[in-house]
Amino acid sequence: METLGIIERYRDFLPITEKTPLITLKEGNTPLILATNLSKKLGADSYEIYLKFEGLNPTGSFKDRGMTLAVSKALENGSKAIMCASTGNTSASAAAYAAKAGMRCIVLIPSGQIALGKLSQALMHGAKVIAIEGNFDDALNLVKEATKQYPITLVNSINPFRIEGQKTAAFEIVDELGEAPDYQFMPVGNAGNITAYWKGYKEYCDKGKCVNLPKMMGFQAEGASPLVKGTPIKNPETLATAIRIGNPASWDGAIRARDESAGAIDSVTDDEIIEAYKMLAELEGIFCEPASAASVAGLKKFLFQKKLEKRIVKLRIVCILTGHGLKDPERAILTIEKPETIQPTLESLNKIL
Ligand SMILES: *Cc1c(COP(=O)(O)O)cnc(C)c1O
Repeated sequence: METLGIIERYRDFLPITEKTPLITLKEGNTPLILATNLSKKLGADSYEIYLKFEGLNPTGSFKDRGMTLAVSKALENGSKAIMCASTGNTSASAAAYAAKAGMRCIVLIPSGQIALGKLSQALMHGAKVIAIEGNFDDALNLVKEATKQYPITLVNSINPFRIEGQKTAAFEIVDELGEAPDYQFMPVGNAGNITAYWKGYKEYCDKGKCVNLPKMMGFQAEGASPLVKGTPIKNPETLATAIRIGNPASWDGAIRARDESAGAIDSVTDDEIIEAYKMLAELEGIFCEPASAASVAGLKKFLFQKKLEKRIVKLRIVCILTGHGLKDPERAILTIEKPETIQPTLESLNKIL
């Protein structure tokens, strides 16, 4: 069977016409994995915990779902170039889809704060990468101004086609479970993704594909938690660089998702993020990036605080793992003990086994 990208698979739910060119790398179709070992470890036997591994998208993050649509629409509208601000994954995705579309791509990144894997992707796909002496929020402001001045399409998640494409992840979850989950845990940075999932669930239920809506549980890193604090943060700090954002563009969307779903937006510390990051790798065989692990860190926090509802039937929880761990191997190496070096003899080997 032919592999379908998200536009082909969900075309009836997306704003496309016969004239829209299809720029796809066959994104989406990511696995929903039952996390049996993690469940045991967390003492969460009364729940079914699933992991939606978005790191298996073509460029290694969920950003591809939005980018396939944003780039296809940009091309349809006659645009010759796209531009974005990025903590890394947006630029990797934009660069790849621009390459496929034969368009120019310009990305603004915060200088020195971007994981090496992500930077190498943007460069390999031929994007014009510009590092600015400032953070993501500064970069996004600059991109907004520049795209007003030049005929270049902005492809950050304030581009509505990004949200439209990203909502398809909610469709996939419902298609696979036969219903929406009871809870969804996810990391929140610029808040486009939580906005997109909530839109996706609502639309799919409106069309009769599901009956219940999930409680949306969004997690920011403690040092970059403007939504929790209720005010923008000037100098956001966290080792989870993908969510190091002080003034989320989709602020209102995140609050609406939380309030309409009776969910929560909370924060987790960098230590809690790293603990979850290691647990996922060691117990489930899934290597995600630190920002992604904020979802599981948040779940652990809520389980520990006994803040989740229980019922006789097992409640279903989905954690979104937004990006792949290979994006940031340096972080992994810093987290884990380095391999021991020994003489190439059986005697030396026996000593440590
Ligand atoms: C972009 C990104 C996020 C944050 O998503 P938002 O839509 O900005 O909230 C989280 N994790 C990873 C890996 C990302 O690339």
